[in-house]
Amino acid sequence: MLEVRGRAETIVTLCCDRCLQHYNHPLRSDSNELIWLSEAEVECPEVLELDPEAPCETLDPRGSFDPARWLFEQLHLQLPLRNDCGLDCPGPDLPKERPEPTASEAAEPCGDPRWAALRLLQLP
Ligand SMILES: [Zn+2]
Repeated sequence: MLEVRGRAETIVTLCCDRCLQHYNHPLRSDSNELIWLSEAEVECPEVLELDPEAPCETLDPRGSFDPARWLFEQLHLQLPLRNDCGLDCPGPDLPKERPEPTASEAAEPCGDPRWAALRLLQLP
């Protein structure tokens, strides 16, 4: 069995899902994993009795272990599911409000007759 421990900290630049602006997000990982050295796949424990300490990954004894890749994967697991730049997020960039109708447009009773019923609902 191979026991791997790793601690890493970094800052990644993410794109906010709401406002699409980039922001910095700290990532921290303090991981500890047991890896079976076996040619056969080891059966992972059932979900109900999942023990985070139980070795689940396997590595071919004649293969090699790439610590940089392992650490990258551990950090990757810490990425947020939803990118949110924080409380100051301005939110999505909504289209600008329609400009006020000009005097001539407002005076015209008109428009598409199919919208007449909706016009009656407008506040005076
Ligand atoms: Zn945002």
